Amino acid sequence: VPDQVDATASFAALWDALLPVGRDPRSGGYRRLAWTPADLACREWFADAAAARGMSVHGDRNGNLWAWWGQPARDALVLGSHLDSVPDGGAYDGPLGVVSAFAALDIVRAPAPAAVPPRPVAVVAFADEEGARFGVACAGSRLLTGALDPDLARAMTDADGVSLAEAMQTFGHDPAGLGRDDEALGRIGTFVELHVEQGRHLVDLDAAVGVASAIWPHGRFRFTFSGEANHAGTTRLDDRRDPMLTYAETVLAARKRARLADARVTFGRVEVEPNGTNAIPSTVRAWLDARAADDDALARLVDGIERAAAERARRDGTKLAMTTESVSPEVRFDTALSRRLVDAAAGAPGEVPTLPTQAGHDAGVLAAHVPAGMLFVRNPTGVSHSPAEHADLADCLAGVDALARVVAAELSRRVDR
Ligand SMILES: [Zn+2]
Repeated sequence: VPDQVDATASFAALWDALLPVGRDPRSGGYRRLAWTPADLACREWFADAAAARGMSVHGDRNGNLWAWWGQPARDALVLGSHLDSVPDGGAYDGPLGVVSAFAALDIVRAPAPAAVPPRPVAVVAFADEEGARFGVACAGSRLLTGALDPDLARAMTDADGVSLAEAMQTFGHDPAGLGRDDEALGRIGTFVELHVEQGRHLVDLDAAVGVASAIWPHGRFRFTFSGEANHAGTTRLDDRRDPMLTYAETVLAARKRARLADARVTFGRVEVEPNGTNAIPSTVRAWLDARAADDDALARLVDGIERAAAERARRDGTKLAMTTESVSPEVRFDTALSRRLVDAAAGAPGEVPTLPTQAGHDAGVLAAHVPAGMLFVRNPTGVSHSPAEHADLADCLAGVDALARVVAAELSRRVDR
């Protein structure tokens, strides 16, 4: 059909234009950190993609970018994700959702885009989703929904001591406007985020596309083990109060409990004092990242790890103090929307499974306020936040096709009402 849009060419043109932005030529990884020149170049790409489609672009008070088909209005169908990356991240985490949103609209709007859609439609690129520079993930969507205090946000600093407020000002964005934006939030009738999968569920299920059911709850906990610094040679083992020993046993206990509970635990950050090769440590501070299928399971898991650590500390003559740094409760995506996503995507070949994810997303932040859902695209490596992250072109196109079907279904659903 001559006036049918070439979905492959449409996707490839968008993807190829974005691909070189912020790429490290040595590692092949991306450094699209928020409010840096690479981020600005991504924003220019977004504006160009929108302009080429006759869509109006505006940035909101919190630095999120919106492209509108039709006038900005309430009850909009909103598609999108984020364009920023972690340091040395992959090409797909975030950008795949924004590129796929534009490409899906190209399919739906072919052959000649109506000036006024049956329901307002927007593509969004949320600012600073990864939190790689200022330490708070989903900053753009959290500010928009009021989940992140604007004063705290303005004062957040990067590794060089540059505040978010200063970084925004460098690029002409006024940080005075940060904070809950009921006007922008009120326009979102439905939010759908397509995202590359960050694990291997879809590989195991032999499916190109899946629908998210939930985001696991996630907590960060600081364990401080205190003992007694002493000489590594002259102090008999029985005389030691060695917090490193307690810490090591705690890692093993956490691993065992997570395995039995089918959960995830990671000790990925440790500080040791005095940190000398020939000194028994006086203090070991370690951060536990824990995730489980629901809030109760997470609480039980962390409680069990704390009790195991305390018991071990008694035996080692050390002390334990545990502090909860943050807990993000479980997100259950809108059941009716998730069912509609499965139904719409099921027009594509293959089964469309529903699956939970263990990673946070802007859709999870929005889910507390509006019906939100997610589509996942298979990642054959299962690796994420690394240059090894990947999605085959055929699977990306299956994702675009599924998203286009979702848009068509949501628009006609509106008309039918
Ligand atoms: Zn992401």
